[in-house]
Amino acid sequence: MNQDLPQRRSEDERAISIDGCPKCNYTGTINTFRWEQPEGYPISIQIAVVENCSCHEERMFRKYNASETFNVKERGHTFKNATTDYMNEKQFNVAMDFVQDIKKHMEIGTWLYIFGDDARVAEASKAKGAILNAYGTGKTYLMQCMANAFSKRKIPAIYVTEEQLFNDIKSTYSRDSEESEDEALQRYYSVPILMIDDIFTAPYKEWAEGKLYSILDERMKNDKVTIMTSNYSLGRIHERLKINGGKIGSRIKGQAEQIEMLGPDRRVMKRDEPA
Ligand SMILES: [Zn+2]
Repeated sequence: MNQDLPQRRSEDERAISIDGCPKCNYTGTINTFRWEQPEGYPISIQIAVVENCSCHEERMFRKYNASETFNVKERGHTFKNATTDYMNEKQFNVAMDFVQDIKKHMEIGTWLYIFGDDARVAEASKAKGAILNAYGTGKTYLMQCMANAFSKRKIPAIYVTEEQLFNDIKSTYSRDSEESEDEALQRYYSVPILMIDDIFTAPYKEWAEGKLYSILDERMKNDKVTIMTSNYSLGRIHERLKINGGKIGSRIKGQAEQIEMLGPDRRVMKRDEPA
């Protein structure tokens, strides 16, 4: 167990704080009425509507807290702590705006694609008149800032690396797994926000490509927010995923805001700074 992690509240303690919701009487939903005048009716009539109670999102957050598996260092990756400069200021602002408008994005299902592609370095370096890099530019750091912001605002989200995601699905194949593959997939289909770090890096075999495609496809169909970091620009995804890569690339293009991160390798810079 990681000692850096703050003490988690027990399941019971958490249950009391939410399940004791007096507004919905423990059900998570509220029945209300709305006045409406249907076409051809001379008067308005009352229509019953079932709405999610305000505790609904908190129930979801209890299951899906993006930063729950972060260590102390990762929890410190916040927009407030981040040092930005002229090379990445714009990128951080786009990400901050995305978090600011997250409720709107959750309604319409906007995606965010944070990428830095080696194949774009030569061209971009020429345009900027500086030597740029596609690695170590802070893509993961930026997405962790977003994850911490969602946790702070109690917005339900899952944060995984692509590798963890595949391991999670594979582990359901074990005979003593408590969860079925379908249950694991449903979690990734339905979580309001899914953050996948370092996507499109697995040595894709048909199995992995198929799983990834079905997750992205379901999320697209159901307007669920998906945030990714990647070393591939959208036009190059087909080089990684032979079967569906082209289709995935063009669909992300239609659904996602993009943040390109090219710059100095900040991992190298960090080494020179005093601890
Ligand atoms: Zn409630």
